[in-house]
Formats: sequence, structure tokens, C-alpha cells
Amino acid sequence: MVRPFEYEWTDDIATALAEAGADASAAYLAGGTTQLDLMKDGVLRPSRLIDISRLPLHEIERRGENLFVGSLTTMEELAAHPVVAQHLPFVREALLRSASVQLRNMATIGGNLLQRTRCRYFRDDTVAQCNKRAPGTGCAAITGFHRTSAVLGTSENCIATHASDLAVALIAMDAVVHVSHVDGSRTIPLTRFYRTPSDTPHLENALRPGELITAVEVPLLPVGARSDYLKVRDRMSYEFALASAAVAVVLDGDVIHSARVALGGVATVPWRALEAEQVLTGATARTEVFQAAAQAALAGAEPRPLNGFKVPLAQRTLVRTLQTVTGVSS
Ligand code: SF4
Repeated sequence: MVRPFEYEWTDDIATALAEAGADASAAYLAGGTTQLDLMKDGVLRPSRLIDISRLPLHEIERRGENLFVGSLTTMEELAAHPVVAQHLPFVREALLRSASVQLRNMATIGGNLLQRTRCRYFRDDTVAQCNKRAPGTGCAAITGFHRTSAVLGTSENCIATHASDLAVALIAMDAVVHVSHVDGSRTIPLTRFYRTPSDTPHLENALRPGELITAVEVPLLPVGARSDYLKVRDRMSYEFALASAAVAVVLDGDVIHSARVALGGVATVPWRALEAEQVLTGATARTEVFQAAAQAALAGAEPRPLNGFKVPLAQRTLVRTLQTVTGVSS
């Protein structure tokens, strides 16, 4: 089916914000790796695309102990940056495990953070029941295929898994998102950026209509920190996570001085596992402690018949990642 839309581009941020602010049915277009697929499938139907790929939002700059990343930086550019390799190695791992090099050269950091769920019913507009795509219609996944669906942060209205690997590592680092609107700019901690579905699965984040992510600011790991991102999937070649864990620790001898833990592939949003961090902080690094942390991280899980395996899988993924970063063998 042909669905006409207007296309325009600008290299001026203020113009882009003004255009989007004046037209609620307009959408920004950057790398397009998700958006164009969804438009072809009829899931997204903007009347107007504002191409922002020429906006001056490509910089990567170290600012003190933070890394400032323009939202139009590609995934490959960020993965290849020496500061990321040296001070945020698990962010690099998350990027490299996300997609093929072809996609990484197109997809932007801002777009990655806004990527939509891979729930098959969301992406099939011939399926009537999808609260995320069509509010109030129901959820086909709850009674249908939900092997890859979330077990954390779900509601009776939506159990779709968040797909980003990058966001999992960034949320572990307390990254901050910079956003701009025609009315002004603000910052949002990534831990408060994403919304669990609750009664409004179609509202996925804190952005207002017309608001644009302009940058992400990421605190660097302290000297001596150890980190890793482990992603478990059905196949090794660029599949979405069944479970993943982003972990960064600072050790004082064999005692865990501080820990950052986040999970992917198992929740409706990139999942910061604060309960696991509490178990780990101040404890001696040993497998029994890691298992207790993994139990705490998944304590609130609500598995369904087809995705119950994700609970022990995520726990084992977290334990393995903790073993890797601490050097404690099983
Ligand atoms: Fe739609 Fe969410 Fe249900 Fe999938 S899980 S069908 S995205 S409402």
C-alpha cells in the first residue's frame, strides 16, 4: 500500500525543533535503521519526515570525567573511540554485540536509545491486539507467542522486551540524556527516561512531542574498575538478547567496593538491578554472593508459560558476568 509523506531536511537544530514543534504528526529521521522498517510495515505512519542527519550533533568529547556524545554519532563511531575502549569497555562490548558493522555505520546513538520493541505483534499491523501500537486493543503476546517477552517491569497491558544493548550498559553508568524542544532544553537521567508499560504501553519514554535527543553524557569508569557485557541469544550472529548483563565493579582486594549492574533482554525497559548492587557492595567476591545478587535481581520476575526459562538464564548470565569481572571461578 502506498502511504505518501512529506520529506524535508535541515542542517539547523532550531529549524528542526520548530518544524517538529509545529506538527504533531511529524517525525525525525536520522539513521533510519528502525524507523524505515516500521514505516514499510505500516506500524509508523508519519505525515512528514524531518531528516536530521545533517545536524551538527556528531561530536564525541571528553569533558572531565564524563564522555559527551552527540546523538547523531553512529554506533560504530562510538565503539571505535579510544576513550570508550579505555574507560567504558563494556559499553563498547554492548555496541559491538548489537548489530552488524553495516548497521552500526548507519544507526545513531539517539536512535538506538529510542529503538522499538521486537514484539512480533507490534510489528504486524494485521494483528488487531496490541496496546503499544493501538491503545486499548489488548495484548496478543500474553495469550500468544511470548518466548522472547519480558519477565520484569511488565503489566497486564504489555510484556514487550526492550531491545537495546547499549541502553543497558549506559543505564548501569547513570548516563544522562540531553534533549531539546522548541521551548527549551533539559537533561534527563537515563534511569528516569524509560517508562514501564503500566496502563499506557504506547508511552515508552519521557520525551514530549517534538523533543529531540541531542546528546548523551556518560560518566567514565574510575581507574581500576573492571567491566563486562555478556549477551545470551539464540544465535551468535546479531540476534536480540534473551538475557544480558552489564556489570562494572571496583574491587578492594577481594572485597567489592562498588558495583553497577543492569540487565537486558528480560525487561520492558533497560533494567538497573539496584537490589543486586546492594547485595554485592561490601561483600567478598565469591560465587555464593553472586548467586544471591542474581536472586535479588530477578526476585520481582513474573514469568509466563513460554518465557519462564529467562529467569534462571538471566541469573546465570549475571553470575557468569560477575565471575568474569572479578576473576572468581565457579
Ligand atoms: Fe503489543 Fe506489548 Fe502486547 Fe507486544 S507485548 S502485543 S507490543 S501490547
